Amino acid sequence: MSFFWIKNGRVIDPASKRDATGDVFIADGRFVKSLSATQRKSAQVIDAKGLVVCPGLVDIHVHFREPGQTHKETILTGSQAAAAGGFTTVVCMPNTSPPVDNTGTVELIKNAARLAPVHVYPTGCITVGMKGQSLAPHGSLQKAGVVALTDDGLCVQSNELMHRAVEYAKMFGLTILDHCQDESMTAKAVMNEGVVSTRLGLTGWPHAAEDIIVARNIILSRYTGAHIHMQHISSAHSVELMRRAKRDGVNVTAEATPHHIALTEESLGTYDTNFKMNPPLRTEADRKAIVAGLKDGTLDCIGTDHAPHAPEEKDKEFDYAPNGIIGLETALPVCLDVLVRQSKFKLGFVIDLMTRKTADILKLPAGTLSPGAAADVCLFDPEEKWLYDTYGAFSRSINSPWNKQQMKGRVKTTIVDGRIVYANGKMV
Ligand SMILES: [Zn+2]
Ligand SMILES: [Zn+2]
Repeated sequence: MSFFWIKNGRVIDPASKRDATGDVFIADGRFVKSLSATQRKSAQVIDAKGLVVCPGLVDIHVHFREPGQTHKETILTGSQAAAAGGFTTVVCMPNTSPPVDNTGTVELIKNAARLAPVHVYPTGCITVGMKGQSLAPHGSLQKAGVVALTDDGLCVQSNELMHRAVEYAKMFGLTILDHCQDESMTAKAVMNEGVVSTRLGLTGWPHAAEDIIVARNIILSRYTGAHIHMQHISSAHSVELMRRAKRDGVNVTAEATPHHIALTEESLGTYDTNFKMNPPLRTEADRKAIVAGLKDGTLDCIGTDHAPHAPEEKDKEFDYAPNGIIGLETALPVCLDVLVRQSKFKLGFVIDLMTRKTADILKLPAGTLSPGAAADVCLFDPEEKWLYDTYGAFSRSINSPWNKQQMKGRVKTTIVDGRIVYANGKMV
C-alpha cells in the first residue's frame, strides 16, 4: 500500500463544495477520507503551504498529432505538456493521419496512451475521413473506446448528414463535439471579418459562419434530444444563441478557449502567425461576451484546443500558415489572469470550469477530490511569477502567443492515480 498526505494547502474541490485549508489523503491511487495513525507514519507527506490543492485539470479538446504528424507532437510529449500544465485528463481530437474513423487507429492511440503520464481518451470521427460525406462506424468506434465523436478542424456541412449523425451518436450514448463553421462563408479566410481584416488586407471569417452552425446544432439537438457540444465558441452572437437554448432547456453545452477570452484580433497587427487560429480571435465585444457567458453558465467549461504545429509550418506568410496554437502549459495562468484577476470570478468557480464541469460534459471519471475517486491532483502556487519560454517547455512545438511572457500562477506538482508525474519543472 502507498499513502500520500497532502497537508496545509488551500483545498478547493467544487464537486464536494470544499474551499478551506485542510488535508487530502490518498491510499493506493484513490482519495480516502482519512489515514490511520500507522498509515500516516508511512505516508509520503507533501507540504502544500501557500499552494492550492485542486482536482487535476481536465481538457476535452487537445490535438496530439499521433499517428501521422509526430514531428509536431506525440501522445507522450502532449501528455507531458498536459502534466506540466496541471492537467491529468485530456481528450484528443481525431484529425490525425489517418483520422480516427476506424477501430485500428483507436487501438493505436489507446496503446500509446498507456505510456502517457496522464489519462488520454480518444474521440472518433463523425464522418469517414472527415470528408463530411458518409457516417463513420459510430457503433464500432464506441466499442473500441472513443468517448465522443467530432470532425474537429472541419464541420459537417450537410444538415441531413448531421441529423443522422446526432441520431446515431445518441443511440450509442456518445456526444457530438462540433467545430461550428459554415465553410461556404469562410473560403480562404484567415482572420475575423471586420475593420481590422480590411485594414490588414486579410480575408475575413465572419462570425455569422459560426452562429449559423451553432443555431443549426441547437435546432438539431432540440429536434432529436441528442447532446451536442459546441467547441471553441468565439462570437458574441453564438453566446447569445447558447444562452437562449439553455433557457429553453435544450441539451447543448459549449466551451471557451483561454485564447478567445484573453486576446482579440488587434493582436494580428504584426502578422504574427502565433495568433492565427480557427475560429479566429475576434473583437473586444466578442471577448467580453465569452467571459460573461462563462460567468453566467451559458458556456460550460474551458478547453485549450492545444494545436501544435512545427516552426517551419508556422513560419510562413500569414495566408499560408496553419491554424492553431499550443495551450496546455499556459491555460491555468491565463485563466487566473483573465477570469480571476481581471473579471473577478471566484477561484473555485474557475477551477470548476477546468475540472468537474469539463469532465461532466463527457461523463469522464475525473474532476473531484471525493473519496473513492482516482487520485488526480493539481497543486499550484496562485501567486508565483514565472517566465514562459517555449524552448524549455514540454510540448514538442513552440507555436504559442505567450512565448517569453511573464505568467502569474504556476503548477508545482501534478499527481495522477496517486503517483507524482510532474514536480518543480520536471517530469518524474
Ligand atoms: Zn476546431
Ligand atoms: Zn481543435
